[in-house]
Amino acid sequence: MKYYSTNNKSLRASFSEAAIQGQAPDKGLYFPETIPQLPSGFLDSIDTLSKEELAFTVMKPYVGDSISDTDLQTIVSETINFPFPLVPVTPAISTLELFHGPTLAFKDVGARFMSRCLGHFVKNRDKEVTVLVATSGDTGGAVANGFYGVEGVNVVILYPSGKVSRTQEVQLTTLGKNITAIEVDGTFDDCQQMVKNAFMDEELKKSLFLTSANSINVARWLPQQLYYFFAYQQWKDKGNPPVISVPSGNFGNICAGLLAYCSGLPAQHFVAACNANDTVLQFLESGTYTAKASVSTLSNAMDVGNPSNFVRIMELFGNQLPSLKNILTAYSISDDETKTVIKDVQEKYHYLLDPHGAVGFIALQRYLSSHDGAKGYFLETAHPVKFYDVIEPVTGQTIPVPESIAVLLDQPKKSIRMKPDDEALKVLLLEGSLQLHR
Ligand SMILES: *Cc1c(COP(=O)(O)O)cnc(C)c1O
Repeated sequence: MKYYSTNNKSLRASFSEAAIQGQAPDKGLYFPETIPQLPSGFLDSIDTLSKEELAFTVMKPYVGDSISDTDLQTIVSETINFPFPLVPVTPAISTLELFHGPTLAFKDVGARFMSRCLGHFVKNRDKEVTVLVATSGDTGGAVANGFYGVEGVNVVILYPSGKVSRTQEVQLTTLGKNITAIEVDGTFDDCQQMVKNAFMDEELKKSLFLTSANSINVARWLPQQLYYFFAYQQWKDKGNPPVISVPSGNFGNICAGLLAYCSGLPAQHFVAACNANDTVLQFLESGTYTAKASVSTLSNAMDVGNPSNFVRIMELFGNQLPSLKNILTAYSISDDETKTVIKDVQEKYHYLLDPHGAVGFIALQRYLSSHDGAKGYFLETAHPVKFYDVIEPVTGQTIPVPESIAVLLDQPKKSIRMKPDDEALKVLLLEGSLQLHR
């Protein structure tokens, strides 16, 4: 399998090259040159496959000969070694719980796969790799945790000061070692822009081996398909495939679901569940894509005004808006609606939603209400405890803090504060001063 750049189809890279580079040299995103189709008989026997077998079969064509079968088996098994339960909430709506990994959010899957792939690829190189990543909340923790202690890899994480929850912040600022957290006085988009500019900087490119761990990296993006397959294994009514609602910000997660669909996974429809950041919704309605500044909301991991992965979605559908609209509907959900549904669902169905899952729930409900007989699931992308500051005032109940978080709350914060300034970041990276902050 080769990957081409979404800016230039003749620029090609292998899986390992694409994973190491992150972004294509021409600023495009890497995209598989063909969409592998599921082997025949795969869907009929899907219920008999173990998670590990399934994951290996799905990932193998994307990885090609970049990783041996034995090593890939180990990598996928370590990536998905926690449960992905599909839990009924109402008669028509289930939730795919993606928060049973080490940092309690779905990003653990992509981060674990990517860190293990990179660790594998740098084994025989003499230069250290620096992973540079911007986070709107959950990426940082998942990436930090995934890479913590991986030999030969330094991780630098930029996050917007005051715009991530306390739980998210401790997950990325308490590790130390090969993990450096940078607290930026700005928005997530500022952080993302700083990362993009660093990748384009000639001097940095010459002196450092820089790569990205944002969801644009193929090694993070592609394994996110897996849990859509795990959900289908658990989907009872195979004759009536699910409507799938995905709380979306940078659109990497939903793009992985759509990729699975294009390779043969049954789905009736996809719903992009957005908060006030409605760039994609506006695009689907008007046909004109206009990037916006991001707006802060309660579902802060989805506060993205210019979703990077959207070009991949367009690529999947041959840049044909009508084909995309056949399978994808977007909704924009307000903070008030989000709070109301958290309370209602808790009272009526005794299920505690996090703000992102709540957006997914409402969007799914909205779609189902105009499609008779349809059923579906939404992705519960984070554990509610990560957003206790939003949820507790709404439900009036305390969420017990899991032990894995409790131990972090007492640890000293290790971070470097910075203005959204490309030069300051560059100096830090070039100084080699990362080590000093460990
Ligand atoms: C990152 C994140 C999202 C958005 O996922 P994208 O792939 O960026 O669309 C949704 N919910 C949570 C909890 C997240 O951490």
